[in-house]
Amino acid sequence: MSSIAQGMALLPVYRIRPMPLLSIRQDLGGFTYGFNYGTKFDLPVYAWYIQGANQHVLVDTGGDARSAKKYRGFDAVDINSFDDALGKFGLRPEDIGMVIQTHLMWDHCVNTKRCTNARVVVQQDELEFALAPHPILARMYRRELFSGVNFQVVSGQTEILPGIELIPVPGHSPGCQAVSVNTEKGRAIISGFCCVKENFEPSPGARESMPVIAPGIHLDAVEAFNNVLRIKGMADIVIANHDPAFVNVDSIP
Ligand SMILES: [Zn+2]
Repeated sequence: MSSIAQGMALLPVYRIRPMPLLSIRQDLGGFTYGFNYGTKFDLPVYAWYIQGANQHVLVDTGGDARSAKKYRGFDAVDINSFDDALGKFGLRPEDIGMVIQTHLMWDHCVNTKRCTNARVVVQQDELEFALAPHPILARMYRRELFSGVNFQVVSGQTEILPGIELIPVPGHSPGCQAVSVNTEKGRAIISGFCCVKENFEPSPGARESMPVIAPGIHLDAVEAFNNVLRIKGMADIVIANHDPAFVNVDSIP
């Protein structure tokens, strides 16, 4: 682990390693509220390995094609198995010490129970909602994926490890959190809410009227929009957590 001076404090510097696990054919309008309906794209589902900590940290644990079919009826394609993706870093699921859940929708926690030695960090608002979801989002939550896991429940903005900060970004779901990671290129932020690059950098036709686009799935579109804008303003590197651009990226930065 290396360090850079940041003010008076020495903050650790990390790298983020994308772990693309599966791809689901989706309508882009389902992710960019008000725009792009009828445009199909291949939505990747990732876990993210944070490299450089004194323990092995994952942000979300993704899923697989089988779970996409089981939980949502989607015909998906596996990119890497969870074991193969971890194996590239010489890791097994039981080596993971911490899983940070951006939220608990199914596509972010299918493999969480396989990380049997991990503390699983989640916002209190998210866990409460996931245990009793409103019908408007209930299809996205599967209690069997997170019941009985070793949760570390947090509330509000939290520095969970030096240089790794949890930032509540509700709107998509009540307890959704972004993950800010200190890197040699500044602050990289994994969005938390389900989105693509288009949410942060709208195409012509949208950007004339708005600086960002709200996630297509949300409880509160205005709150969700405001948090896209907030993350865009905070991040040196924005990582939209379902953007196809990271499928072939080895490391950020
Ligand atoms: Zn998602």
